[in-house]
Amino acid sequence: MKELSIEQTVNKVGEIVELYGWVDTKRDHKKIVFIDLRDRTGTVQVVGGEEFKALSEEDVVYIKGLVKKRPDKMANPKIKTGSIEVEAKELKILNKTKTLPLPVNGDGHDIDEEVRLKYRYLDIRRSRMYKNLALRSKFINLIRQYLFGKDFLEIETPILSETTPEGARDFIVPSRLQLGKFYALPQSPQQYKQLLMIGGVEKYFQIARCFRDEDPRADRAYGEFTQLDLEMSFVEREDVMKLAENLFIEVYEKLKVPIKQKSFPVFTYAEAIKRFGVDKFDLRTEEDKKNNVQAFAWVVDFPFFEKTTEGGWTFTHNPFSAPKPEFMKDLLEKKNIGNILTTQYDLVCNGYEVGGGSIRNHTPEGLKAVFEIMGLDEAEINLKFGHMIEALGYGAPPHGGIAPGIDRLLTCITGETSIREVIAMPMTSGGRTAIMKAPSVVKEEKLKELGIKAILKS
Ligand code: ASP
Repeated sequence: MKELSIEQTVNKVGEIVELYGWVDTKRDHKKIVFIDLRDRTGTVQVVGGEEFKALSEEDVVYIKGLVKKRPDKMANPKIKTGSIEVEAKELKILNKTKTLPLPVNGDGHDIDEEVRLKYRYLDIRRSRMYKNLALRSKFINLIRQYLFGKDFLEIETPILSETTPEGARDFIVPSRLQLGKFYALPQSPQQYKQLLMIGGVEKYFQIARCFRDEDPRADRAYGEFTQLDLEMSFVEREDVMKLAENLFIEVYEKLKVPIKQKSFPVFTYAEAIKRFGVDKFDLRTEEDKKNNVQAFAWVVDFPFFEKTTEGGWTFTHNPFSAPKPEFMKDLLEKKNIGNILTTQYDLVCNGYEVGGGSIRNHTPEGLKAVFEIMGLDEAEINLKFGHMIEALGYGAPPHGGIAPGIDRLLTCITGETSIREVIAMPMTSGGRTAIMKAPSVVKEEKLKELGIKAILKS
């Protein structure tokens, strides 16, 4: 097994080491050949003889060699191992490579994204991509540590599920056992997390995958994304906001990423619109941008409902939210609808909405009133949400939660321009999976088993 990473070679002067990695670059000086050997931690210069001539960039090799200090004037301060080099004693080529379809030693920004995604497994060899993935892993780890420290339980919820409204289209999966019926992939674990609260869990979180069949937009990941989904019982709006805020303050401190203002400033929706013209605003100065300062803010007091084009009402954020307590009477009486404010809080960072949550309607009457205002009749409400209304009737605790988007937060921290730069295998903007060719045609027999006939558009 590989024991030593390339960045550790710098501490091994005078020792014989065994190294594994890829040939990053090769410089042939006739009798001696230099290569930079690369692994995920960096590169080191290796000096070899004739046998190194057979090497090509991106070959996978094993090298046994002596770590030597470089003469001062030969040192390369630009790389971590620049003060040393390895004199090769033994070389094994573990795998020869074909010529790569794209270079992997630059930052990759100038390469066509379709090509990068087709060969994503090569694209992530570049150090920029590896760093993004390593940061993502650390970020999630720090979030977990914080929440475990506050007695949260990490619980998984189903992926094959029933529709839950988050304002997008569902991905649907046909059932073989019940022909003609479909599962929906969750747009969020919203209902499950609330059911966990009714189950007495009190503090839940999940690094949750959410699926939304939205029209592709440049600032979104198509199809699926990851959010930190959390829910707590016996809380008020400010409690959830504080928990999320303290979590990010601690995580960002550990990552050494500066935050502009702690505590996060709070704006009402009306103030935000008046001041910035939008509810996702950027509080950073040019100086902040240069210093990678993250400017968080909260937006609260959104209207609960907005008019549909047909003249009815729909929810602005989340139908499971409770109104602010002073509007509960109006909600139950279905009066004054346009003025009802929701307990929704949105978290904004650097001009993006990076998450949102609310205190929920924990009584059956409250939730029912929301759906009635939206024009659903009794039968429809029972069909779609009967399980929730029933569950809320069995001693549901007051509860609320939030779901910050992991991909978007990481895009802000890294300063990347696209969310796809912080996801290992994102879909293309046209909705094709990286590397593999989904969505793809399935065999006739498979469709037959599902009782489905594809009517293909020409
Ligand atoms: N379910 C909401 C969402 O996915 C978040 C929440 O209210 O907790 O945006």
